[in-house]
Amino acid sequence: MRSSSNTLLQFLNLAVLGAALPATGDWTTQKYDAIIVGAGTAGIIVADRLSEAGKKTLLLELGGASYSITGGEEKPAWLDGTGLSRVDVPGLYSTIFSNPSDMICDSDIIGGYGACTVGGNSAINAGLYFQPPDSDWDDFHPDGWKSADYYLETAFDAAKEWIVDGAGFKDVGINDEYNNKDNVFGRTEYNYIDGQRGGSTRTYLQSALKRSNFRLQTGARVKYINHVAGKASGVTAIVDGKTVEISAATGGRVVLSAGALASPGLLMHSGIGPMDTLVRMAAANFTPYTVANWVPQPAVGEGLFDNPNTFIQMSSPEDYIKSRSGTYAFASQSSVFWGFIDHEDGTKGGCQGTIASTGHGEFTDNHTITLNVYGTSGMATDGRVVLSNDGKFVPGASEGIYYKDPRDANDIAKFIYNIFQALPASTPDQPAKEGLTPLNMNQNWTVAEIQKYITTPSDYAVGAVNHWSSSCRIGKCVDADATVIGTQNIHVIDASIIAP
Ligand SMILES: Cc1cc2nc3c(=O)[nH]c(=O)nc-3n(C[C@H](O)[C@H](O)[C@H](O)COP(=O)(O)OP(=O)(O)OC[C@H]3O[C@@H](n4cnc5c(N)ncnc54)[C@H](O)[C@@H]3O)c2cc1C
Repeated sequence: MRSSSNTLLQFLNLAVLGAALPATGDWTTQKYDAIIVGAGTAGIIVADRLSEAGKKTLLLELGGASYSITGGEEKPAWLDGTGLSRVDVPGLYSTIFSNPSDMICDSDIIGGYGACTVGGNSAINAGLYFQPPDSDWDDFHPDGWKSADYYLETAFDAAKEWIVDGAGFKDVGINDEYNNKDNVFGRTEYNYIDGQRGGSTRTYLQSALKRSNFRLQTGARVKYINHVAGKASGVTAIVDGKTVEISAATGGRVVLSAGALASPGLLMHSGIGPMDTLVRMAAANFTPYTVANWVPQPAVGEGLFDNPNTFIQMSSPEDYIKSRSGTYAFASQSSVFWGFIDHEDGTKGGCQGTIASTGHGEFTDNHTITLNVYGTSGMATDGRVVLSNDGKFVPGASEGIYYKDPRDANDIAKFIYNIFQALPASTPDQPAKEGLTPLNMNQNWTVAEIQKYITTPSDYAVGAVNHWSSSCRIGKCVDADATVIGTQNIHVIDASIIAP
């Protein structure tokens, strides 16, 4: 998403309204036109745009360095002296999770897995980069956020044989035909730049850092917004173990870009959210907000979504060790495919499959690959951000985030059933002589049997994939200017506001 005719981005592009003072000196006593909480994927872009528009902009990030360009130094020994960190090198993606890392959020920040570091989750994610089809905007977002309001920046052989030759999907350049997500297959595309991890840290942050009216402050954990009846005067943060109040200038704004769990959490901690949650925190004296200055807003946290996912383990007859061919002869996550399942009411459920060359769980020999099948759009189930009951009020996901509405499981089961029909007849005990064989599911299962498997918790089903989104949706929780409804100058701009 790079540009839009909507009013939010018009605000971001406004010419300087007040004199933009350089963001130097004692930063905690200055006043800012915009205080952005969270130097993650979205927060960096917001900060770059606001500083470009001349606003005196403070970007607060609770974590520290990630990419080498930010001072990140986590790396294996073979990167010593190269100036690169493990974040920079695409092929080291999975080593971020298999090693202790300062980049991962502590359990008192979010009740989920995520990055608390410069770049947010774009510093640790797989970097898979797919443009959404226009229908994702047109079907699920309000006026001002339609596709017309935007212009956008611009085991493979085994999988292709199965999905294209067998199941009849069209082989396409995935981002060349981004509007076509129905029965299409293609190579994965990644957000890399010149062989290194890309993302907003490599682009927008670098342009913002060149401006004198911009400051990035790491190690600053925002606790809550200071406001009276939804009019913010700044934020309260913990910096170097001390509580600091940071002020917005007259006419200034506070923008939460802390991610789809933490942004609703911060609103709730600031007395903005569902009544029952505000009452619970007040009873524990957790925040300074009492009934006199609450902004009741039931939509804060409502609609939290994560992609329902199933790991399907599959084996191929080829032996990589002997032939240097077969499912292991390509890098992880090499192909992707999409399809829609039609609903009786005219809507449709979107599903995605990605194929990676490593096995999972009990299936890790050199013949095994993993197919992940996700529900991606039109899913009927969502949950909400809830605060933990341990007195710390940590934001996390409610129960029943996946498959509460059986239609979702039915869509995904039908999608899996349809592609399984294009596989040769096989069982885990009698694998196909050619082609792929499902190992943790049966190729000849009915839709009902598949549905039961994908909705029964196991190492392969009903696990969080931490693609959190949609917990403060446009039209319900924020308006088309991304202003939290019921407040004057408090905004959310991150994965929270987007419908899945
Ligand atoms: C393991 C993993 C793999 C993924 N793979 C992909 C992929 O391949 N492709 C893809 O498109 N998406 C992927 N995703 C999802 C994608 O990375 C996220 O949807 C996206 O990064 C969310 O961006 P955001 O701006 O909403 O939040 P984030 O990027 O999470 O940024 C939030 C920032 O806010 C900071 N913060 C939080 N609370 C506070 C506070 N109180 N004070 C100050 N700062 C705070 C955090 O430290 C963090 O830096 C993946 C996610 C994960 C976890």
